[in-house]
Amino acid sequence: MHVFDSPDFDDHEQVIFASDAATGLRAVIAVHSTALGPALGGCRIHAYADEADAARDALRLSRGMTYKAALAGLALGGGKSVVLADPARDKTPAMMRAMGRAVERLSGRYIAAEDMGATVADMDAMADETAHVTGRSPERGGVGDPSPWTARGVFLCLEAAVRLRLGRGLAGARVCVKGLGSVGWKLAEALHGAGAALTVADIRDDVAARAAGAFGAAVIPVEAALAAEVDVYAPCAMGGEFNIDTIPALGAQIICGAANNQLAEAADGGRLAARGALYCPDYLVNAGGLIRVAQPPLGMDEGAALARLEALPRTLETVLAESARSGATPAEVADALARRRFAPAAG
Ligand code: NAD
Repeated sequence: MHVFDSPDFDDHEQVIFASDAATGLRAVIAVHSTALGPALGGCRIHAYADEADAARDALRLSRGMTYKAALAGLALGGGKSVVLADPARDKTPAMMRAMGRAVERLSGRYIAAEDMGATVADMDAMADETAHVTGRSPERGGVGDPSPWTARGVFLCLEAAVRLRLGRGLAGARVCVKGLGSVGWKLAEALHGAGAALTVADIRDDVAARAAGAFGAAVIPVEAALAAEVDVYAPCAMGGEFNIDTIPALGAQIICGAANNQLAEAADGGRLAARGALYCPDYLVNAGGLIRVAQPPLGMDEGAALARLEALPRTLETVLAESARSGATPAEVADALARRRFAPAAG
């Protein structure tokens, strides 16, 4: 694999290939930027096709973390690690401790956190070998599950977007939530509490049925969610949902949800704008969980973290106002604002 020639290479500060034969560990750690602080980012455990596939993911995801931390106003850079292993079959506590030693060798330039395929127990195992890991269990000094914070940030941003675009509060606003997992369920609960009229979709029929009972939500098939005739669409399942084929079917005027990487490609931001849809950049509105796990490494108390969380809708308002003024899409404005924070010299 040619790292420097990869389309996902973005002048990353450091890319490490880590190995431990005794435990079978093979991992890539990518530090995109430490301009604003240590590079924090999840440790993803996945059965990658090969090491090029794994390295590409580490390069792409670590870059995204730099933008996310910068836009959330955190003194953190962006990094990500990937372990080439099937989390169900290959992962062991010994392997995770070896990963902890690999993180330790970076002397705090990279701080690991939970990601797909990893659990709080894995963070605890890594913490046996390094202090540079967050997302640990409360018994080990961690903050536990960050998803309620993610949901709260999305809720606050969604409320701000509705006020801005529709000039109203959430009472009676029609919102479709797709994906009722850790984040989506909490979001639906908060929206219901604020009087929104909910439509929900999830591949798990039992969870959708439970939401119908708990929130009076209308349940629709997952394939119908994007086209639902609602005011707001909140994607909280998988990313990559908006593309040249799906955007013409969009039913909502506002998109504000937790899913990562919602735009399949950058041009989809322009396609959404051309359709008159207000897209709230995913990595801006879903930063609540990052703010939560950043608490221990940054020595932030809960009040300071909450203030950061509650600042997310103000950042969104700034981005949307600049987008309306300049004609650039919200995603372009958010990227430029993040870049001004972590690479001011580059403009
Ligand atoms: P989760 O795994 O707890 O929940 C996902 C839910 O989506 C599940 O209920 C699942 O059944 C459902 N789902 C899966 N595929 C679906 C499909 N095609 N159509 C409809 N429903 C489907 O995940 P989560 O932690 O709630 O995260 C949701 C999204 O938000 C993910 O994209 C994640 O990357 C992103 N995110 C999460 C956090 C966090 O703090 N958990 C932070 C930032 C971003």
